[in-house]
Amino acid sequence: MAVEMKVGGASAGETPDLAIAGAWVATVNAEDRVLSPGTVTVTGKRISGVYGPGEAVPLARRIIDGGNKLVLPGFVNVHAHTVLSGLRGKTEDAPSEVSLHSHILPFRSRMTPEGAFALARLGALESLRFGSTTIGDLYWQEGAIGHAFEEVGVRGVLGQSISETNLLKVGAGDFTFDRRRGQETLRIAEEVIAKWHGRGDGRFRCVLAPHAPDDCSPELLKDIQALARQHRTVISMHVSQSRSEEQRIRAWHGKSTTRFLADLGLLGPELVGAHCVFLSDEDVALYAESGAWFAYLPVINAKRGYAAPAAKLAAAGANMSLGADNMTGDMVLAAQMATMVARITAKESTILPPRQVLRMATMGGAKALGLGQEIGSIEVGKRADLVIIDLDRPHLWPVHDPVATYFHWGQAGDVETVIVDGEIVIRDGRSTRVELRQVAAAAQAAAELGWGRLWGESGAAH
Ligand SMILES: [Zn+2]
Repeated sequence: MAVEMKVGGASAGETPDLAIAGAWVATVNAEDRVLSPGTVTVTGKRISGVYGPGEAVPLARRIIDGGNKLVLPGFVNVHAHTVLSGLRGKTEDAPSEVSLHSHILPFRSRMTPEGAFALARLGALESLRFGSTTIGDLYWQEGAIGHAFEEVGVRGVLGQSISETNLLKVGAGDFTFDRRRGQETLRIAEEVIAKWHGRGDGRFRCVLAPHAPDDCSPELLKDIQALARQHRTVISMHVSQSRSEEQRIRAWHGKSTTRFLADLGLLGPELVGAHCVFLSDEDVALYAESGAWFAYLPVINAKRGYAAPAAKLAAAGANMSLGADNMTGDMVLAAQMATMVARITAKESTILPPRQVLRMATMGGAKALGLGQEIGSIEVGKRADLVIIDLDRPHLWPVHDPVATYFHWGQAGDVETVIVDGEIVIRDGRSTRVELRQVAAAAQAAAELGWGRLWGESGAAH
Protein backbone atom coordinates (compact mmCIF):
# COMPACT_ATOMS: atom_id res chain seq x y z
CA MET A 1 0.00 0.00 0.00
CA ALA A 2 1.15 3.51 -0.82
CA VAL A 3 0.31 4.64 2.69
CA GLU A 4 2.60 2.12 4.34
CA MET A 5 5.41 3.01 1.99
CA LYS A 6 4.98 6.72 2.64
CA VAL A 7 4.79 6.43 6.40
CA GLY A 8 7.70 4.01 6.40
CA GLY A 9 10.55 3.93 8.90
CA ALA A 10 10.00 4.02 12.62
CA SER A 11 6.33 4.95 12.47
CA ALA A 12 5.05 2.39 9.93
CA GLY A 13 1.54 1.34 10.78
CA GLU A 14 1.25 3.72 13.75
CA THR A 15 -1.67 6.12 13.96
CA PRO A 16 -0.22 9.61 13.47
CA ASP A 17 -0.72 12.10 16.29
CA LEU A 18 -1.55 14.91 13.90
CA ALA A 19 -2.47 15.49 10.28
CA ILE A 20 -2.51 18.86 8.53
CA ALA A 21 -4.86 17.89 5.75
CA GLY A 22 -5.75 19.38 2.39
CA ALA A 23 -3.29 22.29 2.46
CA TRP A 24 -0.81 23.79 0.07
CA VAL A 25 2.44 22.14 1.19
CA ALA A 26 5.76 23.65 0.10
CA THR A 27 8.13 20.80 0.88
CA VAL A 28 11.47 22.47 0.00
CA ASN A 29 12.66 18.95 -0.85
CA ALA A 30 15.29 18.30 -3.53
CA GLU A 31 12.66 18.65 -6.29
CA ASP A 32 11.13 21.71 -4.62
CA ARG A 33 7.68 20.13 -4.78
CA VAL A 34 4.61 22.09 -3.78
CA LEU A 35 1.65 19.77 -3.11
CA SER A 36 -1.94 20.91 -3.63
CA PRO A 37 -3.80 19.54 -1.91
CA GLY A 38 -1.16 18.06 0.34
CA THR A 39 -1.24 16.47 3.75
CA VAL A 40 1.49 16.21 6.36
CA THR A 41 1.27 13.77 9.25
CA VAL A 42 3.24 13.95 12.46
CA THR A 43 4.03 11.09 14.81
CA GLY A 44 5.81 12.03 18.00
CA LYS A 45 8.47 14.62 17.19
CA ARG A 46 8.85 13.72 13.54
CA ILE A 47 7.12 13.98 10.18
CA SER A 48 5.66 10.54 9.48
CA GLY A 49 3.98 11.13 6.12
CA VAL A 50 3.80 13.61 3.23
CA TYR A 51 0.95 13.00 0.78
CA GLY A 52 0.08 14.59 -2.53
CA PRO A 53 -3.20 14.72 -4.48
CA GLY A 54 -5.04 11.39 -4.70
CA GLU A 55 -2.85 9.60 -2.16
CA ALA A 56 -4.55 7.72 0.67
CA VAL A 57 -3.87 9.32 4.02
CA PRO A 58 -4.02 7.43 7.35
CA LEU A 59 -6.45 8.66 9.94
CA ALA A 60 -4.73 10.75 12.61
CA ARG A 61 -5.68 11.36 16.23
CA ARG A 62 -5.98 15.06 15.55
CA ILE A 63 -6.64 16.85 12.27
CA ILE A 64 -5.96 20.45 11.31
CA ASP A 65 -8.02 21.50 8.30
CA GLY A 66 -5.51 22.86 5.80
CA GLY A 67 -8.08 24.42 3.50
CA ASN A 68 -6.66 27.67 2.09
CA LYS A 69 -3.59 27.34 4.25
CA LEU A 70 0.07 27.15 3.27
CA VAL A 71 2.34 24.77 5.16
CA LEU A 72 6.06 25.57 5.16
CA PRO A 73 9.08 24.13 6.93
CA GLY A 74 9.78 26.31 9.97
CA PHE A 75 12.09 29.21 9.26
CA VAL A 76 15.70 28.93 10.40
CA ASN A 77 16.83 32.34 11.58
CA VAL A 78 20.50 31.63 11.04
CA HIS A 79 21.94 34.68 12.79
CA ALA A 80 20.15 36.44 15.63
CA HIS A 81 20.72 38.23 18.91
CA THR A 82 17.40 37.86 20.70
CA VAL A 83 18.57 39.87 23.70
CA LEU A 84 19.00 42.88 21.44
CA SER A 85 15.23 43.22 21.12
CA GLY A 86 16.06 45.56 24.04
CA LEU A 87 17.59 48.06 21.60
CA ARG A 88 14.37 48.75 19.72
CA GLY A 89 13.50 52.41 19.45
CA LYS A 90 16.94 53.43 20.70
CA THR A 91 19.66 52.84 18.14
CA GLU A 92 18.11 52.53 14.68
CA ASP A 93 18.92 56.10 13.69
CA ALA A 94 22.43 56.52 15.09
CA PRO A 95 25.45 56.42 12.75
CA SER A 96 26.12 52.73 12.16
CA GLU A 97 29.58 52.66 13.76
CA VAL A 98 28.25 54.48 16.82
CA SER A 99 25.30 52.11 17.00
CA LEU A 100 27.58 49.07 16.83
CA HIS A 101 30.44 50.10 19.05
CA SER A 102 28.87 52.56 21.48
CA HIS A 103 25.40 51.06 21.94
CA ILE A 104 25.15 47.43 20.90
CA LEU A 105 28.42 46.08 22.27
CA PRO A 106 28.30 47.88 25.66
CA PHE A 107 24.59 47.03 26.07
CA ARG A 108 25.51 43.41 25.51
CA SER A 109 28.37 43.34 27.94
CA ARG A 110 26.42 45.02 30.76
CA MET A 111 23.32 42.86 30.62
CA THR A 112 22.75 40.63 33.66
CA PRO A 113 21.86 36.95 33.11
CA GLU A 114 18.34 37.69 34.37
CA GLY A 115 18.02 40.59 31.94
CA ALA A 116 19.37 38.44 29.10
CA PHE A 117 16.78 35.78 29.92
CA ALA A 118 13.92 38.28 29.92
CA LEU A 119 14.90 39.93 26.64
CA ALA A 120 15.76 36.65 24.92
CA ARG A 121 12.36 35.30 25.91
CA LEU A 122 10.71 38.28 24.23
CA GLY A 123 12.89 37.92 21.14
CA ALA A 124 12.26 34.17 20.97
CA LEU A 125 8.52 34.61 21.39
CA GLU A 126 8.46 37.18 18.59
CA SER A 127 10.55 34.93 16.31
CA LEU A 128 8.41 31.89 16.98
CA ARG A 129 5.14 33.76 16.54
CA PHE A 130 6.46 34.91 13.15
CA GLY A 131 7.36 31.39 12.02
CA SER A 132 10.97 30.81 13.08
CA THR A 133 11.20 27.35 14.60
CA THR A 134 15.00 27.54 14.90
CA ILE A 135 17.02 30.49 16.13
CA GLY A 136 20.79 30.64 15.69
CA ASP A 137 21.53 32.96 18.58
CA LEU A 138 24.88 34.59 19.24
CA TYR A 139 25.54 36.42 22.47
CA TRP A 140 27.51 36.54 25.69
CA GLN A 141 24.98 34.81 27.94
CA GLU A 142 23.80 31.80 25.99
CA GLY A 143 23.17 29.79 29.16
CA ALA A 144 20.42 32.20 30.21
CA ILE A 145 19.21 32.48 26.63
CA GLY A 146 18.93 28.70 26.31
CA HIS A 147 16.57 28.65 29.28
CA ALA A 148 14.46 31.37 27.65
CA PHE A 149 14.24 29.33 24.42
CA GLU A 150 13.38 26.23 26.39
CA GLU A 151 10.48 28.01 28.07
CA VAL A 152 9.07 29.46 24.85
CA GLY A 153 9.54 26.19 22.94
CA VAL A 154 11.79 27.22 20.04
CA ARG A 155 14.70 25.15 18.74
CA GLY A 156 17.99 26.80 19.66
CA VAL A 157 21.45 26.82 18.13
CA LEU A 158 23.50 28.64 20.72
CA GLY A 159 26.75 30.46 20.04
CA GLN A 160 28.47 31.83 23.13
CA SER A 161 30.47 34.83 21.91
CA ILE A 162 34.25 34.75 22.08
CA SER A 163 36.41 37.85 21.90
CA GLU A 164 39.81 39.13 22.92
CA THR A 165 38.92 42.83 22.99
CA ASN A 166 37.25 44.86 25.71
CA LEU A 167 33.84 45.67 24.27
CA LEU A 168 33.51 48.70 26.50
CA LYS A 169 36.61 50.20 24.87
CA VAL A 170 36.21 49.42 21.19
CA GLY A 171 33.86 52.37 20.80
CA ALA A 172 36.85 54.60 21.56
CA GLY A 173 38.94 52.72 18.98
CA ASP A 174 40.81 50.57 21.50
CA PHE A 175 41.05 47.12 19.91
CA THR A 176 43.84 45.85 22.17
CA PHE A 177 43.84 42.05 22.20
CA ASP A 178 44.02 40.40 25.59
CA ARG A 179 44.87 36.70 25.30
CA ARG A 180 43.53 35.97 28.78
CA ARG A 181 40.19 37.50 27.89
CA GLY A 182 40.05 35.34 24.78
CA GLN A 183 40.83 32.18 26.74
CA GLU A 184 38.27 33.09 29.40
CA THR A 185 35.49 33.64 26.84
CA LEU A 186 36.53 30.39 25.14
CA ARG A 187 36.27 28.58 28.49
CA ILE A 188 32.73 29.93 29.00
CA ALA A 189 31.84 28.78 25.47
CA GLU A 190 33.03 25.29 26.38
CA GLU A 191 30.83 25.35 29.49
CA VAL A 192 27.83 26.27 27.35
CA ILE A 193 28.65 23.44 24.94
CA ALA A 194 28.97 20.94 27.80
CA LYS A 195 25.53 21.90 29.09
CA TRP A 196 23.55 22.61 25.91
CA HIS A 197 25.00 20.73 22.93
CA GLY A 198 22.41 18.02 22.22
CA ARG A 199 20.18 18.94 25.17
CA GLY A 200 16.44 18.30 25.01
CA ASP A 201 16.70 15.24 22.76
CA GLY A 202 18.62 17.32 20.24
CA ARG A 203 16.37 20.40 20.52
CA PHE A 204 19.51 22.38 21.35
CA ARG A 205 22.79 22.54 19.58
CA CYS A 206 25.85 24.76 19.95
CA VAL A 207 28.19 26.47 17.53
CA LEU A 208 31.49 28.25 18.12
CA ALA A 209 31.02 32.00 17.86
CA PRO A 210 34.10 34.21 17.61
CA HIS A 211 32.56 37.66 17.56
CA ALA A 212 34.37 39.07 14.53
CA PRO A 213 37.72 38.88 12.73
CA ASP A 214 38.80 42.20 14.25
CA ASP A 215 38.40 41.16 17.86
CA CYS A 216 39.99 37.73 17.77
CA SER A 217 43.66 37.00 17.01
CA PRO A 218 44.59 34.43 14.37
CA GLU A 219 45.81 32.14 17.17
CA LEU A 220 42.47 32.30 18.96
CA LEU A 221 40.59 31.69 15.71
CA LYS A 222 42.65 28.53 15.14
CA ASP A 223 41.90 27.36 18.72
CA ILE A 224 38.21 27.94 18.02
CA GLN A 225 38.36 25.99 14.78
CA ALA A 226 39.96 23.03 16.58
CA LEU A 227 37.21 23.11 19.20
CA ALA A 228 34.48 23.30 16.53
CA ARG A 229 35.92 20.21 14.85
CA GLN A 230 36.20 18.40 18.17
CA HIS A 231 32.49 18.99 18.80
CA ARG A 232 31.52 18.35 15.15
CA THR A 233 29.93 21.75 14.82
CA VAL A 234 30.39 24.94 12.84
CA ILE A 235 31.74 28.45 13.39
CA SER A 236 29.24 31.29 13.19
CA MET A 237 30.64 34.82 13.17
CA HIS A 238 30.31 38.35 11.83
CA VAL A 239 32.32 38.87 8.65
CA SER A 240 32.91 42.23 7.02
CA GLN A 241 30.15 43.77 9.08
CA SER A 242 31.45 47.33 9.00
CA ARG A 243 33.73 49.44 6.88
CA SER A 244 36.04 49.98 9.85
CA GLU A 245 36.37 46.21 10.40
CA GLU A 246 37.47 45.75 6.81
CA GLN A 247 39.92 48.67 7.20
CA ARG A 248 41.37 47.27 10.44
CA ILE A 249 41.94 43.81 8.98
CA ARG A 250 43.61 45.35 5.95
CA ALA A 251 45.85 47.52 8.16
CA TRP A 252 46.81 44.62 10.44
CA HIS A 253 47.16 41.82 7.92
CA GLY A 254 47.48 43.54 4.53
CA LYS A 255 44.50 41.73 3.04
CA SER A 256 40.72 41.70 3.01
CA THR A 257 38.69 40.01 5.74
CA THR A 258 37.66 37.25 3.33
CA ARG A 259 41.25 36.57 2.26
CA PHE A 260 42.39 36.70 5.90
CA LEU A 261 39.88 33.98 6.83
CA ALA A 262 40.74 31.94 3.73
CA ASP A 263 44.47 32.06 4.49
CA LEU A 264 43.76 30.96 8.07
CA GLY A 265 41.86 27.94 6.75
CA LEU A 266 38.56 29.12 8.21
CA LEU A 267 36.72 29.98 5.00
CA GLY A 268 34.79 26.84 4.08
CA PRO A 269 31.51 24.94 4.55
CA GLU A 270 31.99 24.97 8.33
CA LEU A 271 31.81 28.76 8.50
CA VAL A 272 28.65 30.85 8.65
CA GLY A 273 29.65 34.45 7.91
CA ALA A 274 27.09 37.10 8.72
CA HIS A 275 26.75 40.41 6.83
CA CYS A 276 29.63 40.19 4.28
CA VAL A 277 28.78 43.76 3.32
CA PHE A 278 32.15 45.00 2.12
CA LEU A 279 33.28 42.06 -0.01
CA SER A 280 35.06 43.01 -3.24
CA ASP A 281 34.29 41.11 -6.46
CA GLU A 282 37.41 39.05 -5.80
CA ASP A 283 36.21 38.31 -2.25
CA VAL A 284 32.79 37.26 -3.59
CA ALA A 285 34.40 34.73 -5.92
CA LEU A 286 36.65 33.42 -3.14
CA TYR A 287 33.73 33.20 -0.71
CA ALA A 288 31.48 31.34 -3.14
CA GLU A 289 34.19 28.94 -4.22
CA SER A 290 35.05 28.06 -0.62
CA GLY A 291 31.56 26.74 0.19
CA ALA A 292 31.31 29.04 3.24
CA TRP A 293 27.75 29.95 4.20
CA PHE A 294 26.60 33.52 3.66
CA ALA A 295 24.16 34.67 6.35
CA TYR A 296 22.27 37.42 4.56
CA LEU A 297 20.88 40.00 6.99
CA PRO A 298 19.16 42.50 4.68
CA VAL A 299 16.98 44.27 7.24
CA ILE A 300 19.66 45.37 9.67
CA ASN A 301 22.07 46.14 6.83
CA ALA A 302 19.48 48.39 5.20
CA LYS A 303 18.85 50.20 8.49
CA ARG A 304 22.58 50.96 8.57
CA GLY A 305 22.53 52.16 4.98
CA TYR A 306 24.35 49.08 3.73
CA ALA A 307 23.56 46.34 1.23
CA ALA A 308 25.50 43.10 1.06
CA PRO A 309 26.52 41.87 -2.41
CA ALA A 310 23.83 39.17 -2.19
CA ALA A 311 23.02 39.21 -5.89
CA LYS A 312 26.69 38.69 -6.74
CA LEU A 313 27.11 35.93 -4.14
CA ALA A 314 24.00 34.16 -5.44
CA ALA A 315 25.19 34.47 -9.04
CA ALA A 316 28.58 33.07 -8.02
CA GLY A 317 26.86 30.04 -6.49
CA ALA A 318 27.56 30.83 -2.83
CA ASN A 319 25.76 28.88 -0.12
CA MET A 320 22.95 31.19 0.98
CA SER A 321 21.08 31.45 4.29
CA LEU A 322 18.97 34.15 5.90
CA GLY A 323 18.79 35.86 9.27
CA ALA A 324 17.01 38.67 11.06
CA ASP A 325 20.01 39.77 13.23
CA ASN A 326 19.10 42.18 15.99
CA MET A 327 15.99 44.17 16.98
CA THR A 328 13.67 41.92 14.95
CA GLY A 329 12.70 38.27 14.71
CA ASP A 330 10.62 38.76 11.59
CA MET A 331 11.88 36.33 8.94
CA VAL A 332 9.06 37.20 6.54
CA LEU A 333 10.26 40.79 6.43
CA ALA A 334 13.84 39.49 6.10
CA ALA A 335 12.80 37.30 3.16
CA GLN A 336 11.09 40.16 1.38
CA MET A 337 13.93 42.57 2.04
CA ALA A 338 16.37 39.91 0.83
CA THR A 339 14.79 40.06 -2.58
CA MET A 340 14.20 43.79 -2.69
CA VAL A 341 17.67 44.84 -1.54
CA ALA A 342 19.36 42.42 -3.96
CA ARG A 343 17.23 43.75 -6.81
CA ILE A 344 17.93 47.38 -5.92
CA THR A 345 21.69 46.79 -5.86
CA ALA A 346 21.66 44.80 -9.11
CA LYS A 347 19.01 47.00 -10.77
CA GLU A 348 17.37 43.84 -12.02
CA SER A 349 13.99 42.26 -11.25
CA THR A 350 14.58 38.51 -11.50
CA ILE A 351 17.05 38.02 -8.65
CA LEU A 352 16.17 35.93 -5.56
CA PRO A 353 12.62 34.86 -6.48
CA PRO A 354 10.33 33.45 -3.73
CA ARG A 355 11.29 29.78 -4.05
CA GLN A 356 14.97 30.63 -3.71
CA VAL A 357 14.37 32.89 -0.72
CA LEU A 358 12.17 30.24 0.92
CA ARG A 359 15.01 27.73 0.51
CA MET A 360 17.50 30.19 2.04
CA ALA A 361 15.13 30.79 4.98
CA THR A 362 14.67 27.07 5.68
CA MET A 363 16.99 24.46 4.17
CA GLY A 364 19.84 26.93 3.70
CA GLY A 365 19.89 27.86 7.37
CA ALA A 366 19.48 24.24 8.43
CA LYS A 367 22.49 23.14 6.38
CA ALA A 368 24.55 26.15 7.46
CA LEU A 369 24.06 25.23 11.13
CA GLY A 370 24.78 21.54 10.55
CA LEU A 371 21.12 20.49 10.86
CA GLY A 372 20.35 19.67 7.23
CA GLN A 373 19.51 16.06 8.05
CA GLU A 374 17.07 17.03 10.79
CA ILE A 375 15.15 20.13 9.76
CA GLY A 376 14.70 22.62 6.88
CA SER A 377 12.27 20.68 4.67
CA ILE A 378 9.01 18.75 4.91
CA GLU A 379 10.16 15.17 4.41
CA VAL A 380 9.40 11.90 6.16
CA GLY A 381 11.72 11.30 9.09
CA LYS A 382 12.62 14.93 9.69
CA ARG A 383 11.72 16.79 12.85
CA ALA A 384 8.17 18.14 12.72
CA ASP A 385 9.05 21.85 12.66
CA LEU A 386 6.20 23.34 10.66
CA VAL A 387 4.50 26.66 10.00
CA ILE A 388 0.89 27.06 8.88
CA ILE A 389 -0.01 30.30 7.16
CA ASP A 390 -3.58 31.51 6.77
CA LEU A 391 -4.08 32.52 3.15
CA ASP A 392 -7.60 33.85 3.76
CA ARG A 393 -6.43 37.46 4.01
CA PRO A 394 -7.29 40.39 1.74
CA HIS A 395 -3.65 40.84 0.72
CA LEU A 396 -3.21 37.15 -0.21
CA TRP A 397 -6.13 36.68 -2.60
CA PRO A 398 -6.42 35.53 -5.35
CA VAL A 399 -4.64 32.21 -4.79
CA HIS A 400 -2.57 31.07 -7.77
CA ASP A 401 0.89 30.33 -6.47
CA PRO A 402 0.78 30.87 -2.70
CA VAL A 403 4.55 30.63 -2.27
CA ALA A 404 5.07 33.48 -4.74
CA THR A 405 2.20 35.49 -3.30
CA TYR A 406 3.24 35.00 0.30
CA PHE A 407 6.89 35.86 -0.18
CA HIS A 408 6.08 38.96 -2.17
CA TRP A 409 3.04 40.21 -0.25
CA GLY A 410 2.53 38.25 2.93
CA GLN A 411 3.05 39.45 6.47
CA ALA A 412 4.55 37.71 9.46
CA GLY A 413 1.22 38.13 11.24
CA ASP A 414 -0.35 35.74 8.71
CA VAL A 415 1.40 32.89 10.51
CA GLU A 416 -1.38 31.06 12.32
CA THR A 417 0.15 27.90 13.80
CA VAL A 418 3.74 26.94 14.59
CA ILE A 419 4.87 23.43 15.46
CA VAL A 420 8.28 22.50 16.91
CA ASP A 421 9.26 18.86 17.45
CA GLY A 422 5.61 17.91 16.86
CA GLU A 423 4.32 20.26 19.56
CA ILE A 424 1.96 23.13 18.73
CA VAL A 425 3.72 26.10 20.32
CA ILE A 426 1.76 28.87 18.55
CA ARG A 427 -1.96 28.44 17.97
CA ASP A 428 -4.06 31.16 16.29
CA GLY A 429 -1.09 33.50 16.64
CA ARG A 430 -0.71 33.00 20.38
CA SER A 431 1.84 31.10 22.44
CA THR A 432 0.54 27.93 24.06
CA ARG A 433 3.30 28.18 26.67
CA VAL A 434 3.82 31.75 27.88
CA GLU A 435 1.77 34.90 28.47
CA LEU A 436 2.75 37.82 26.24
CA ARG A 437 1.97 40.44 28.91
CA GLN A 438 4.24 38.77 31.43
CA VAL A 439 7.04 38.30 28.89
CA ALA A 440 6.74 41.92 27.75
CA ALA A 441 6.74 43.38 31.27
CA ALA A 442 9.91 41.47 32.23
CA ALA A 443 11.61 42.52 28.97
CA GLN A 444 10.67 46.17 29.50
CA ALA A 445 12.20 46.14 32.97
CA ALA A 446 15.38 44.45 31.68
CA ALA A 447 15.76 46.92 28.82
CA GLU A 448 15.31 49.91 31.12
CA LEU A 449 17.89 48.49 33.48
CA GLY A 450 20.32 47.83 30.62
CA TRP A 451 20.02 51.31 29.21
CA GLY A 452 20.17 52.85 32.69
CA ARG A 453 23.45 51.07 33.34
CA LEU A 454 24.84 52.15 30.02
CA TRP A 455 24.07 55.79 30.62
CA GLY A 456 25.03 55.73 34.26
CA GLU A 457 28.46 54.18 33.83
CA SER A 458 29.70 55.61 30.55
CA GLY A 459 27.84 58.90 30.44
CA ALA A 460 27.20 58.16 26.76
CA ALA A 461 23.60 59.28 26.70
CA HIS A 462 21.72 58.88 23.47
ZN1 LIG B 1 25.00 39.92 14.46
